[in-house]
Amino acid sequence: MQAQTEGRREANLALLLRTLRARGPLSRSQLAAGSGLSKTAVTPLLASLDQRGLTERAGTTTTQGRPGRLVRLRPGAVCGIGLDVHPGHLGATVTDLTGEVHLRRKTACDTSAPEHALDRLADLTRRALDDVPGADWTGVTVAIPGRADRATGTATAPRLRWREVSVVDGLAARTGLPIDRLDVDNEANLAACAEHDGDPVGHLVYLSGDHGVAAGVIADGVLVRGADNHAGEVGHLALDPLGSTYCACGRRGCWETQVGLDAFLDACAPRDDRVHDPRLAQGERMSIVRGRAERGDARTLDALHRTAAALASGISVLATLLNPRKIVLGGYFAALQDWLVVPQDQGRTRVTASTLGFSAGGKGAALAALRRVLDDPTVVPVKSRPADDRGSGAPEDDRTGSAPEGASA
Ligand SMILES: [Zn+2]
Repeated sequence: MQAQTEGRREANLALLLRTLRARGPLSRSQLAAGSGLSKTAVTPLLASLDQRGLTERAGTTTTQGRPGRLVRLRPGAVCGIGLDVHPGHLGATVTDLTGEVHLRRKTACDTSAPEHALDRLADLTRRALDDVPGADWTGVTVAIPGRADRATGTATAPRLRWREVSVVDGLAARTGLPIDRLDVDNEANLAACAEHDGDPVGHLVYLSGDHGVAAGVIADGVLVRGADNHAGEVGHLALDPLGSTYCACGRRGCWETQVGLDAFLDACAPRDDRVHDPRLAQGERMSIVRGRAERGDARTLDALHRTAAALASGISVLATLLNPRKIVLGGYFAALQDWLVVPQDQGRTRVTASTLGFSAGGKGAALAALRRVLDDPTVVPVKSRPADDRGSGAPEDDRTGSAPEGASA
């Protein structure tokens, strides 16, 4: 019975955290209305969040003539680190519970050598910990453009030439961080979760437009992983059965050989052209493509036209198969959205461009690293003892003077 009560309290704390996260500064009454809990139940729960340094005061509001103190999530209180791995470079993103990105860093790296890549990922992790001091760290999640086995912490990614690489063990050994704070997942899955976090539509598909093409599928608000954790590898749908190009998976005819970034850039320009230069950021390479399209370059326009047609074919398959409310195009599909024209409506499915850029997987990974706290705020230790009138725990109609700001400096 006691355990059940504890479980309910943790769930209610998580509910308040999510309500504050979704709706911004709220008074106790607004929080009660928004969460469905009673005002009496909210008061001690808010005190608990406050003692953990997760919330702070945010001014007052006046409702029905009575001032009410507003409470919000404390920016920078708890942070998650997302790492993303791509052929030729790595990225790091630090996000807090409010969704604010505190750090985004990118570094060139020969990712085809897994041990070297893990060394650099450990460097990025240490630098992120140093550069955002004063935060509680929930963990690190690594986004992989391939298959990630979360149970074993390993990843296999043909485009990186990674096979059963022990990502979690490797990072734990290099950083000294505990294994239960480290995780690895597929980047399209993580990007889909990041998109869903911004717009919690129940049925959503995120389509990554990078060297590889993969889908993160959310159905009824839940990420679809499949029996073997391989759901969403749509880049390997055989949509081009007469195609002559071999895919990274070893087969021919994969959708990725038509709409993957490499296929697109090959169609745009010869291999010695600047758009193929891996030292340039994807965004810069897309700017070059865009410039040529605007000047009417025939080869670029033809590549855009053919890629858009192949993209539309695959999108119609996804819309028919999965019946999502929304398909979000990521990566270079989003960067060239004005030129890669695909039908915006597939029945009742809307097709939109992501605003998260090429680092959507890294942003989703940082968010995933925060999941531990979002699911159970009590994993953050209590920092202060309850006081008579301190911080956000005090009820809004408490008439005593202003509270100290606590450790928010
Ligand atoms: Zn393939």
